[in-house]
Amino acid sequence: MKRKKSPKQKLKILYGCRDMLTGLKNKTLDYHHIIKKEDDGPKTIENGALLERKCHEWLHYFEIIDPEMYHLINECLALYKKCIDLGHIKLIQQYENEIFPEVVSLVDQHTIGLQKTKFKL
Ligand SMILES: [Zn+2]
Repeated sequence: MKRKKSPKQKLKILYGCRDMLTGLKNKTLDYHHIIKKEDDGPKTIENGALLERKCHEWLHYFEIIDPEMYHLINECLALYKKCIDLGHIKLIQQYENEIFPEVVSLVDQHTIGLQKTKFKL
């Protein structure tokens, strides 16, 4: 019998093996709940986003320091997926041109910041 595919595997098939906030390709991606588990967000294709570990950690760090921004980013993720579902090429390009480079640089700054605090200890 064939094993049923997980929501994460299905997301990879539908949206590609890449981080949905940075566009970076990676075989190992985390499943991120767009609506949080605590808020009854289900682990489904609809409620899922694929994120690289570094980016996923950054996003949840953001949740603590700027919850409003965290919610906005999640709304963006949901909209981005909808644009792909509907084949809205112009909006997809706009998102990828504006969001991807921005998040790549934010995640890098965050990672460098963490390394710096590690060295200080
Ligand atoms: Zn998450």
